[in-house]
Amino acid sequence: MSEKEQGPQRTCIACRREADKDDLVRLAAVNGRVVADLLGKLGGRGVYVCPSEKCIAAAFGNERLSRGLKQKVASGDIAEFAAGLRELMARRIVSLLHMAQKAGVLVAGATAVEERCNKNEAAFMMVASDLSERSAGKLPDVSRLRRFVFLDKDRLGAALGRESVGIIAILHGGLARTIARELVRYGSLADLGV
Ligand SMILES: [Zn+2]
Repeated sequence: MSEKEQGPQRTCIACRREADKDDLVRLAAVNGRVVADLLGKLGGRGVYVCPSEKCIAAAFGNERLSRGLKQKVASGDIAEFAAGLRELMARRIVSLLHMAQKAGVLVAGATAVEERCNKNEAAFMMVASDLSERSAGKLPDVSRLRRFVFLDKDRLGAALGRESVGIIAILHGGLARTIARELVRYGSLADLGV
C-alpha cells in the first residue's frame, strides 16, 4: 500500500504543477469576485492554484483567472486575498480541531502530549508560535514527533475553549491525516510571510 493515498489530481493554473486536489486551493468566482473555495463546495467553474504567494500572484496576473473561470473577474488586491485565504485556512483548521476534541483525539498540555508520545499514540503535535524553545525542549520525546506551528498561545487556547494553550497533540487516525494536510497547506502560505 502506498504511504499516501492519491486523490484526484488537478493542475495549478499558475505553474502547471499537477498535484492532489486537496493540496491545492480551489478558486471560484462569486458575483465577479474571486474567492477561495476551501471545501470545494461552491458550484460553477473552478480553477486550482498552489497555496503559495508566487502562484497566487501569477494566477491573478495576465487574465489567467478570467480565462480559467470563463468570466471577467476583478483581480482585487492579491495581498488582501492571500491574507484572507490564510485566515480562512486557520478557521478551517480550528473547526477540525473542534472535531478532534469531540472525537477525543486531541490532547492539550505538555504532560498529556508527552504521555501520548511515549505510547506512540500521537500523530503529530502543534505548538503555539509564542511557546518558548525552552519549554518545547523540556519535553523529552517531542523532537521525533512532527511539529507544526499554529497560532499563538492565546488564540490556540481560545480555539479550544481554554485560556492559553502552548502545545497539543493529535492522535493517529483519519482526522489526524486531514488536519496535517491542512497544516501543510496553511504553512506554505505562512512561510512566505503573507
Ligand atoms: Zn503552482
